[in-house]
Amino acid sequence: MSNQKLMGLMQDDFPLNLHHLRRRMISCHPDAQVATLTEQGVVRARFGEISQRVDRLARVLAQLGVERGDRVGTFAWNNQRHFELYMAVPCYGAVLHTLNIRLFAEQLTYIVAHAQDEVIFVDDSLVPILEQLASSLPGVRHYIVMGDGEMGSLPNALRYEELMEQAGAGSFDYPEIDEREAAALCYTSGTTGNPKGVLYSHRSISLHSTATLMTDALALSKNDRALVVVPMFHANAWGIPHGAALAGADLVMPDRFLQAEPLAKLITSERPTVLGCVPTIFADLLRYADEHPELDLSSLSNCACGGSAVPKQLMRDFEERHKVRIFQAWGMTETSPVATYARPPQDSQHDERYWQTRAKQGKPLPWVELRIAGTSGEEMPWDGQSTGEIEVRGPWIAARYYNDESGEEKFHDGWLRTGDIASVDEQGFVQITDRAKDVIKSGGEWISSVELENEVMSHPDVIEAAVIAKPDERWAERPLCCVVVREGADVSAEDLLEHLRGRVAKWWLPDEFAFVKEVPKTSVGKFDKKVLRGRLQEGSLEGRVTVN
Ligand code: AMP
Repeated sequence: MSNQKLMGLMQDDFPLNLHHLRRRMISCHPDAQVATLTEQGVVRARFGEISQRVDRLARVLAQLGVERGDRVGTFAWNNQRHFELYMAVPCYGAVLHTLNIRLFAEQLTYIVAHAQDEVIFVDDSLVPILEQLASSLPGVRHYIVMGDGEMGSLPNALRYEELMEQAGAGSFDYPEIDEREAAALCYTSGTTGNPKGVLYSHRSISLHSTATLMTDALALSKNDRALVVVPMFHANAWGIPHGAALAGADLVMPDRFLQAEPLAKLITSERPTVLGCVPTIFADLLRYADEHPELDLSSLSNCACGGSAVPKQLMRDFEERHKVRIFQAWGMTETSPVATYARPPQDSQHDERYWQTRAKQGKPLPWVELRIAGTSGEEMPWDGQSTGEIEVRGPWIAARYYNDESGEEKFHDGWLRTGDIASVDEQGFVQITDRAKDVIKSGGEWISSVELENEVMSHPDVIEAAVIAKPDERWAERPLCCVVVREGADVSAEDLLEHLRGRVAKWWLPDEFAFVKEVPKTSVGKFDKKVLRGRLQEGSLEGRVTVN
């Protein structure tokens, strides 16, 4: 028999699109809940009710004149309405464009124009920010304000709830959607050049969210309640909202209340089992929880942390003092974003080796292929030692940027060059040592700023540490460590050096520390080393102490 005859006997043309998630919410998980924190307390809705609102919202999109393939902007926190848009816009056949509310005005203006957003849904609490930009967004036909707050001077502003009311009840006649059609658009938060658009397809989101549900990844299930702190405007909130729709997990949404106090209280009262967020927020939460033993965070048995390297000590302290388990994930906007996940091989022995593995970025998820490329592009061995730039490919990895040729060098032969430097061990565990642009090359050898930071942050009085390269006549570059110490703590540069001795190679020991008030952060909460390097260069980096 020819191969042709052996093909097509499965339903291979069943589309992997978000209609399945939408249908599943109604048919399998009508009782799953979305709980949103508001000023008046927690507002709840079941998936069954939300599905009906998604139908209404699809009708609203039609009334607004949104057409198939149009980009629809959101300027919103993590809340129920944003989740409704996550479902309605792609199922309607349009593209959900989540705008990063923390970007600079010029970047936002650029992005809205580049994506050609004509309609933007905005939370009332964010109207004051958008108002200031509105005059430079001539292409936007309508602003839809979510909530009862002021609409300010936004031109052509309409109210979400009024439109929903007018849209009437009943099901919506959704279009059939090819799985390769675009579902969502998110721009990178890169600090150099213009942000670049990553266009996720229905297929990529379906496969990515399915993979993140697996036991060796986020392992979301119908028994979970997921507290979504990672912003829904950044890389689909790591796929957690989509995963919850598939699995039937509850979603707990903090809206704009992202400080440690409201978060810790929300955890104590809502008892989420899963929390996804970046290390800086986890660190704030840890400090707050330490100071408030009356709060109980122990429901969090399965947290995901990533976006930047997760300090080993942070995971350890949380686990030992609060029974909160954090697993590390790695990825980027271009990888949907989850590409690797760090479930330790066996967790019976909590020895140093076990924690070393926990501090790694993890194994590639099924369907993600990964290799590391040496300086001349040669493939490096997986021996836990050799380092090189991570390259990835797979069904939820970007093949190119949206309408932008400037980033073409990042894509070659079907692989994405990530700009992250790492080693991979014999078990496939990836360990990131640096961003390519942050590497420190001292006397011809690389020093891992990530590893150094990790060790400095294991000092009990250190809150943040960011290591940058300082030009050096003899060694070309030497590490300079910027630290933030706990308020009231008396820590000297010598103490830090002493702490590092024996933990890192002698020639890695920083020559200089800078005691700073805060490490500057990017719009998505990563250490912004470019700003620190700039301060060093112009001589404005505070609190510098030379040692060694
Ligand atoms: P973004 O596209 O803004 O999500 O940024 C992606 C970048 O964040 C990656 O290329 C890494 O440099 C960094 N990153 C994400 N997760 C981790 C992690 N677990 N450890 C170290 N760096 C990370």
